[in-house]
Amino acid sequence: MIGDTIMIVPCTFRFYKKDWVHSNMNLAIRIANENENKFRFGCILTHGGRIIAEAQNHMGKSHPLQAKYAKRAGEGNKIWLHAEIRALIQARETPEEIWIARIWRDGSLALAKPCAICTLAIQESGIEKIHYTNEFGKITTVEV
Ligand SMILES: [Zn+2]
Repeated sequence: MIGDTIMIVPCTFRFYKKDWVHSNMNLAIRIANENENKFRFGCILTHGGRIIAEAQNHMGKSHPLQAKYAKRAGEGNKIWLHAEIRALIQARETPEEIWIARIWRDGSLALAKPCAICTLAIQESGIEKIHYTNEFGKITTVEV
């Protein structure tokens, strides 16, 4: 599974209900689908298989944690909240896995690989696995 890609079909999350990989990613896709920002990301964090945070990016809100990691990544101007950091702010337990989805306006999947800022935040959060949608309509999974 690690580094592998899996075919996923958006908007059919019920079909994948018993499959935790697809179920988690389809929830992230659903959150992205409800996102009204220009760039549409949805993200969830899990611990022991349980969902501990859900978030969208926000292009009009910031947070000290976003500003801190942006500065450390050498991109101090990127203060608007990324979905990954927003989810990390919400988490009350150490997250183990992160699921990140990005969709275009037409609902098709886009590459949601974490940026340098979020990668830094993810590395320091305790997260062990990152799952993100890729431009081929599949899931890419990488170990931290
Ligand atoms: Zn980011």
